[in-house]
Amino acid sequence: MRTAALTIALAALALVAANFATGAMRSEKLAPRLCETTGGGRFVGIPGSPGERIDRRLLNDVRMLKRKYKIFITDGYSLDPVHSRNGEHPIGLALDIVPDIRRGGSWKLISKLAKWAEPRQNRPRAPFRWVGYNGDPGHGRGHHLHLSWSHSETRYNKPARTVYSLRCPTPAKPKGDGGKANDPAKPKNTKKGQGKSKKKGKRQRKNHGGVKATPVPATGGITPRSLGRRLAPPQPETGGVTLPQSR
Ligand SMILES: [Zn+2]
Repeated sequence: MRTAALTIALAALALVAANFATGAMRSEKLAPRLCETTGGGRFVGIPGSPGERIDRRLLNDVRMLKRKYKIFITDGYSLDPVHSRNGEHPIGLALDIVPDIRRGGSWKLISKLAKWAEPRQNRPRAPFRWVGYNGDPGHGRGHHLHLSWSHSETRYNKPARTVYSLRCPTPAKPKGDGGKANDPAKPKNTKKGQGKSKKKGKRQRKNHGGVKATPVPATGGITPRSLGRRLAPPQPETGGVTLPQSR
């Protein structure tokens, strides 16, 4: 009997190891707008946002945000020192956002998104981990909105093992299918460097304070807090100013 149990245990272990080796992705829907995904992290180009990259597990969220809130992404995955080193830009789990005016975007829509993502100051709705907008230095209406997604502890420039998102990601097509699978993670345009000349602050305008979000009770009952201590602690950004490291 013990041998059988051991065999099963070993088989399970082998499966885990295989998942690690292939970077396999496991997603679990925790709530209508909350998905937990372990494995499969990779920095990829964002379709329709030349030069911008993100952890591929957020692509479905990004697509939804673009469609619904007409966002224009000014930065995603980035090792630029203007971003907090311990924040989510260097691990591809943050977006800096302004309105996509050409597609009908507006600050009104961005404010709506900010208010939805963070109904009360510093109490973001899961899966968001930190939201930078009105009331946060270097962020806000007329400046930019920062969204960070919750994740397990990780290191600088290394995809987090576990990520929380609004929508479950589309699993990547397994390798060996000719490589031309309809993988949304694959940047359509792999040429690097083009249009990447943006400078921080080029869009910066004076923050007039904007509209203060009215507190709205969070629905769903799942807050980043209730996801437990698997989450890395929030890392607020000071808007282009890297916080001094406390070590
Ligand atoms: Zn940011």
